[in-house]
Amino acid sequence: MIDIGMAVGSVKSAIEIAKTLKDSADLFDKAEVKLQLAELIGSLADAKMQIAEIQESLINSEKEKKDLRKKIEIKDNMIYEKSYYWKMDGDKKDGPFCQRCFDSDEKLIRLQGGNNDVWACAQCNKTFRGPAYVYKSRTTNFRRT
Ligand SMILES: [Zn+2]
Repeated sequence: MIDIGMAVGSVKSAIEIAKTLKDSADLFDKAEVKLQLAELIGSLADAKMQIAEIQESLINSEKEKKDLRKKIEIKDNMIYEKSYYWKMDGDKKDGPFCQRCFDSDEKLIRLQGGNNDVWACAQCNKTFRGPAYVYKSRTTNFRRT
């Protein structure tokens, strides 16, 4: 969690020290001025470090936001047709993709095979039968030959 308050606090104390120095520099001896300047440098160094942390945190959250946007965009373009997913790109249909991998891990795993609309996922090993699947019993095949 980023703490902007700490950075603001460091800048505020740097400003306070600078004001004190400006208003009372004539009253301070050299050693006191040096001490005040050292404190000023310390506060500015703290502020610099805290601002760098904030910057890093902002970069990370930008990246997270981008990843989430991409995920939402993918999700919006997926359609489920029993028993797998298609990814729509305008009128173009891409896929099919594994229902199990997408629903559980949000992974787009392209299904393999397709003969007789039977597909397999190389990731989770699940097989899918599409709407064009035709049941063929072994006995029927046996009688034919
Ligand atoms: Zn899968």
